Amino acid sequence: MKIALIAHDKMKPEMLEFASKYKDILKKHDLVATGTTGHKIIAATGLNIKCFRSGPLGGDQEIGARVANGDIDLIFFFRDPLTAQPHEPDVSALLRLSDVYKIPLATNSSTAEHMMNSLK
Ligand code: PGA
Repeated sequence: MKIALIAHDKMKPEMLEFASKYKDILKKHDLVATGTTGHKIIAATGLNIKCFRSGPLGGDQEIGARVANGDIDLIFFFRDPLTAQPHEPDVSALLRLSDVYKIPLATNSSTAEHMMNSLK
């Protein structure tokens, strides 16, 4: 499966914990990520991840384009619900495209745990 990983800044520690916990499952899949999230996960876990641009610089849109092209099967997107994001329109666009193409997308770690169980 092609899996996308994204985390807003305040959610990155949670994403690193999640990626470390499920490293053995994640490594069996093709992983992509927004720039900062991806590089941090690589540093923490050694996973092989293709990193796009940072989210605020277009990374969410790059992943959205891949969703539209049928290149993404699953998205883990740890959103920060308490902080305004300068690239909120890009975030909304990605959520919308995921719904258009019915791509499973977890926006918090509890949903992510359930989705990960389906990958086991
Ligand atoms: P980042 O982008 O991984 O480059 O920080 C995530 C986002 O804020 O969309």
